[in-house]
Amino acid sequence: MKIAVYPGSFDPVSNGHLDIIKRSANVFDTVYVLVSVNPNKKYCFTIEERVYMLKEATKNINNVIVEASDNLVLDFAKEKSASVIIRGLRNFIDYQNEITLFQFNRSIDKNIDTFILFPSANNLFLSSSSIKELIMFGNDIKDYVPEGLSEYITERIKERFNKNTGF
Ligand code: ADP
Repeated sequence: MKIAVYPGSFDPVSNGHLDIIKRSANVFDTVYVLVSVNPNKKYCFTIEERVYMLKEATKNINNVIVEASDNLVLDFAKEKSASVIIRGLRNFIDYQNEITLFQFNRSIDKNIDTFILFPSANNLFLSSSSIKELIMFGNDIKDYVPEGLSEYITERIKERFNKNTGF
C-alpha cells in the first residue's frame, strides 16, 4: 500500500489543487488531503469550510480522504503510515519554499520523501490569492475552482472582504 499526504492551506481550493489531487490519486493507493492549520497564518475560510470544499471537490475520487490537523505534517504522515508528501511547484517562488520545506522535513525524518508535481498548463498561474482577488474585483471564478463551489466561495469572500481592512 503506497500512501501519500497532500498538505496545504486550500484557502480556498482551486482547480490547480484538484489537478494535483487527481494525478496523485492515479499513482498512490490512498491520498490524504491534509488541511493544515498554521497559527501564524491568517485564513479567509474556517478549517471546517476548507474541509467541506475539499470533500465536495473530491467526492467522486474514492481513494482520497480529506482531514484536518494542527500537527506537523510529518507526524500526520507517520500516523497514517504514509511514506510520501506531495507538493505542487508552479514557479521559482514555490521552488524556494518547497526546497526549504523538503530539507526541513528530510532533516527530521528520512523515511518520508517529498514528490513534486508541476501544474497542468491551464493552472500554472492559479493560486488561492488570485481567486480571492478576482472575486474582490467582481470577476467570475467558475473556470478556476472545482465544479459546484464557485458560488459558495464567492459569497463567503464577498461577505468577509472589507475594502479598508482586507480580510
Ligand atoms: P500553502 O499555503 O501551504 O502553500 P496552498 O494551499 O497554497 O498551501 O497549496 C498547497 C500546495 O499546492 C503547495 O505545494 C502549492 O505549491 C500547490 N499549489 C497551489 N496552487 C497550485 C496550482 N495552481 N497548481 C499546482 N500546485 C499548486
